[in-house]
Amino acid sequence: MANFNIDYVKNATYDAIVIGSGISGGWAAKELTGKGLRTLVLERGRDVKHIVDYPTTMKQPWEFEHRGQVNLDVKTENPIVSKCYAFYEGTEQFFVKDKEHPYVQEKPFDWIRGYQVGGKSLLWARQTQRWSDFDFDGPARDGFAVDWPIRYKDIAPWYSHVEKFAGITGNKDGLPNLPDGEFLPPHEMTCVEKYFKEQVSKNYKDRNVIIGRAAHLTQPKPIHYQQGRAQCQHRTICERGCPFGGYFSSNASTLPWAMKTGKMTLRPDSVVHSIIYDEKKGKAVGVRVVDAHTKEMMEFYARIIFLNAAALNTNLVLLNSTSNRFQNGLGNDSGTLGKYVAFHNYRARISGEYEGFGDMTTDGRRPNGSYIPRFRNLHKQETDFLRGYAAGFDTYRSQEHDYSGLGADLKANLGKSTWGKWHVGSHMMGETIPKESNYVALDKNLKDPFGIPQLKIAIGYDENDEKMIKDYHTQLTEMFTMAGFTNIKTFDSHQAAGLDIHEMGGVRMGNDPKTSMLNKWNQLHACKNVFVTDGASMTSTSTQNPSLTYMAFAARSVDYAVKQMAMGNL
Ligand SMILES: Cc1cc2nc3c(=O)[nH]c(=O)nc-3n(C[C@H](O)[C@H](O)[C@H](O)COP(=O)(O)OP(=O)(O)OC[C@H]3O[C@@H](n4cnc5c(N)ncnc54)[C@H](O)[C@@H]3O)c2cc1C
Repeated sequence: MANFNIDYVKNATYDAIVIGSGISGGWAAKELTGKGLRTLVLERGRDVKHIVDYPTTMKQPWEFEHRGQVNLDVKTENPIVSKCYAFYEGTEQFFVKDKEHPYVQEKPFDWIRGYQVGGKSLLWARQTQRWSDFDFDGPARDGFAVDWPIRYKDIAPWYSHVEKFAGITGNKDGLPNLPDGEFLPPHEMTCVEKYFKEQVSKNYKDRNVIIGRAAHLTQPKPIHYQQGRAQCQHRTICERGCPFGGYFSSNASTLPWAMKTGKMTLRPDSVVHSIIYDEKKGKAVGVRVVDAHTKEMMEFYARIIFLNAAALNTNLVLLNSTSNRFQNGLGNDSGTLGKYVAFHNYRARISGEYEGFGDMTTDGRRPNGSYIPRFRNLHKQETDFLRGYAAGFDTYRSQEHDYSGLGADLKANLGKSTWGKWHVGSHMMGETIPKESNYVALDKNLKDPFGIPQLKIAIGYDENDEKMIKDYHTQLTEMFTMAGFTNIKTFDSHQAAGLDIHEMGGVRMGNDPKTSMLNKWNQLHACKNVFVTDGASMTSTSTQNPSLTYMAFAARSVDYAVKQMAMGNL
């Protein structure tokens, strides 16, 4: 038995463990294995292999049993995930179903998750903007959160590092609030988007409209071909999984790259229960895992642990990692674990029409849109709310069809289809303020199917968010009117927090261990061999999409950790 234990420990011991195989975990795995570390990647969901496990990727619309829609039973049984625009018959296999993984909504919160190898990287909308010092300076300048322990210059080289490998399309716009990256050629704006850009530049000195920056291979480089990826085909059905690897996902990019090193062991169906803290050694020594099929509890060991389970699950794992030393969760000396969670305010929209460009339309598809970088409260506080919003901007031209008649008549009438007006639309992406009262905690009574406490979520909007929605509607109405758009309508979806799918915080970075969980290297202040490099680590949320920043943090943090190991500090 003693020998068996020694063998078990030996076989279950790695240099590094990564918890979660989504966007950030994939990057941690790639970087760790690339630096020669034997790395165990633990993923709670099933395996999803690139190409072979994308069952709907080549399906034509008429090949879907319900013409692409999820049927009513699925909708009724899954009211939360059904609210996500990307949940349909072609993608439902990649989303968590409501009942299978319950949580407690102390306040309404639509928690959208993807539990499988690759996580949400299969499903994401691929928008990838860098953050700037207007974001990293924000909390200190406006006094709404602890100071970020880093600035743009610290992360900039790591943005370049991940952009070159992932492949990001974009235009070099030279904007201080949205730093340029290592871009592949940009997508084209439509004639109406170009027109709106001109009008906005002419009428506002501080506002811009640009083509979106997105993780698509518009012109692959050798490094992308080496990953087995090819040019994006503009199919715009990305969330079904792309057989070309035309967009960045962990499945197409980082995970197979890590696997090729021979240093990665990927263990799907492994639900991490908690991190094991050794009181005598004063550090973490491994993780407890529940096998998703047998429900057997097992342990794996490593010198360093990267936590990349996506923001709220990372909070859950740390909260559930208790010991004599850390009775309220691993590393939680500050008492801030689970608190100061924030998200993006995606409630506001605006639409309109444009009579011009009657002789123009678009050709083909584009897996991207246009983008209005944040312009509110950038250089000085100018509104009665803190921070600001970015916005998407999209246009399309409708077709008008005559569906009357039957048989030959119908065919003839359809042949007379005419082009309708140009439609213009925008949606707000607002920063929310991290607050102590927006928190997650372990429910004292309810457990999930693996015997792990359910997560209790108490996150919601406040007055700042309401004022921001009002301002977005006013400003965008003014900009649309100025451009000559008509039939302008504003909307507030009143959607719950969560549907933005950009939840962040709870394990925030900061300089002071008394008020934050992580130092500037994403390392737990109080347990130095545990690193958190997903959204949980974000001190504030910016207005930009967050995932590119998680990638850069993961790569930067691995570099630091491996150097520390080499110096014998970890
Ligand atoms: C429809 C949609 C559109 C989006 N659009 C954008 C966008 O345009 N731009 C952008 O930046 N972001 C976007 N996002 C958000 C983006 O997907 C996430 O920010 C990103 O995936 C987070 O990376 P992650 O590694 O933290 O989490 P994930 O990619 O979710 O990966 C986490 C992994 O950890 C696993 N896991 C969780 N708990 C455990 C556990 N206890 N044990 C073991 N494994 C565990 C999960 O199963 C999962 O595989 C979008 C998301 C969706 C769904």
